[in-house]
Amino acid sequence: FLIDTATFSLLYVISLFCMLAPDFDEPELTEGDIAVDSDSERNADPCTSSGCRWPKSSDGKVYVPYVIANHYSSRELQIIQRGLDSFSSMSCIRFKRRSNERDYLSIESRNGCYSYVGRRGNAQTVSLARSGCIYHKTVQHELLHALGFNHEQTRSDRDNHIRVVWENIVENMKHNFNKIATLNQGTPYDYNSVMQYHRTAFSKNGKPTMVPIPNNNVSFGQATQMSQNDINRLNTLYKCCEYLTSHDTIYCLQFNKILVC
Ligand SMILES: [Zn+2]
Repeated sequence: FLIDTATFSLLYVISLFCMLAPDFDEPELTEGDIAVDSDSERNADPCTSSGCRWPKSSDGKVYVPYVIANHYSSRELQIIQRGLDSFSSMSCIRFKRRSNERDYLSIESRNGCYSYVGRRGNAQTVSLARSGCIYHKTVQHELLHALGFNHEQTRSDRDNHIRVVWENIVENMKHNFNKIATLNQGTPYDYNSVMQYHRTAFSKNGKPTMVPIPNNNVSFGQATQMSQNDINRLNTLYKCCEYLTSHDTIYCLQFNKILVC
């Protein structure tokens, strides 16, 4: 029975959370902004199983129903709507107002910016707090979580691209840097992904918590919107064939042999 430091810090966070428990309605958060319902659902892979993928309609589109809480200003609603709509022009994902669908996103201003990874069943909160989360990149980031994607720095191949500087990370935040057996969709590690945290994320001393390899001067974590790789892997995961370039189609075919693009 082994407990590594990351697991230990995770347990520490859980126990701390239980002691403080400021609001029992708020789910626990792992990786800073990823919500989980229970311990067993930690490290959820990005739709490696079919279960967390949103279903494809017979017209080839993936309709993801949503509702938006009524506590946003019109300016905030505009930014959220722009984020939702941005997926339509580059993928087969169509966020649409919920009518009576069972599974849907409930976009609300709660405590911070967070989302579950993938489809959870029934209503699932995507929290976009009015203070600090109403940005185009943040809306896209949280929606990508809801569609099944994890953070770039937790990718299975991240050690080839960034070095995690464990000693600079806030002690009880180290679990944010645990690797996940992610399904990378044949896409390269992308410093410009909207899912990549910045250089000093969760730093306890202002020093970098991540350093790029091999050139430690490369900038990363500065995305203001989804990168082409973010779009490609979304289209590959959801088999949005008409939105894939010929290069991506190869990955698409490799990944799922029965796919007909
Ligand atoms: Zn996130």
